[in-house]
Amino acid sequence: MRAFDYTRASALPDAVAADAKLIAGGTNLLDLMKLEVETPDSLLDINRIGLDLIEPEGDGLRIGALVTNSDCAADPRIRKDWPLLSKAILAGASPQLRNKATTGGNLCQRTRCGYFMDNRSACNKRQPGSGCAAMGGFNRIHAILGASDACIATYPGDMAVALSALDAHVVIAGSGDARTVRVRDFHVLPGDKPQFENVLQKGEVITGVTLPAPVKGQHIYRKVRDRASYAFALLSVAAVIRMDQGRIAHAQLAFGSLAHKPWHDPRIEELLTGETPSTALFDKASDLLLENAQGHGANDFKIPLARRTLAAVLAEATGV
Ligand code: SF4
Repeated sequence: MRAFDYTRASALPDAVAADAKLIAGGTNLLDLMKLEVETPDSLLDINRIGLDLIEPEGDGLRIGALVTNSDCAADPRIRKDWPLLSKAILAGASPQLRNKATTGGNLCQRTRCGYFMDNRSACNKRQPGSGCAAMGGFNRIHAILGASDACIATYPGDMAVALSALDAHVVIAGSGDARTVRVRDFHVLPGDKPQFENVLQKGEVITGVTLPAPVKGQHIYRKVRDRASYAFALLSVAAVIRMDQGRIAHAQLAFGSLAHKPWHDPRIEELLTGETPSTALFDKASDLLLENAQGHGANDFKIPLARRTLAAVLAEATGV
């Protein structure tokens, strides 16, 4: 690890004005610094600027950016009314990491592509223009949706997938007025600039996440991974499904580890809503999800796996 300056911010304006890399839990950043993938000259510790409360906001909740994943998952209001979020967070990492990881940091975590984390490999995300070693390489965890010729990495997290399904918003402070962005629009696809992973601009800081009013129904987070704990998803499905008199009255869905961002396709929700659940309907939902899916060799298995996992989640949610 290279030497760096370390200072502490005492208030949000310090963080907004900083010409330094912000650090909160550090659960991703410190790993990348040890690997010299991230080499900041200066770190600004933002752990003492507040933003660590979960408070009512309208019919929903506002989760401060520095609320830890553990506190968020354990909050009785979230467990009762937004259990999808608790389930997704608890499916990720380990208790020790969740005790340190924060809401804002989790949204900004970087890909776990092995070539990105290996300075000797070609990687357009780490070094634009250098190529992509994952193309034709070991790409078992990589994207099948929304990838580009420049990058096939995935966004690896769980929390943001639930937030996307719940249609939460990210609150962002900068030098001007605060702005809000749907979680569905916060992360971006790689295109020809895979070094950019979200819409945060220089000088902007995430201050929190807002959850809309709760939606009653089945809240399911299904994470498929190589071992039962402390592993990133091969893929995940986050679903809120409400049934009424044998029909699907309401559906919200998002998918993890299939793309460079949590994947949300409103056509699937439109297809399901108002319909009587059946295996044929679930197949049509998968057809929509996967119509442009493309494997890259070692990750081809994700395409049938996504079909089976979506069908299983919909069957569980609807009782078919
Ligand atoms: Fe880098 Fe993306 Fe290629 Fe991985 S998939 S090596 S992150 S360019």
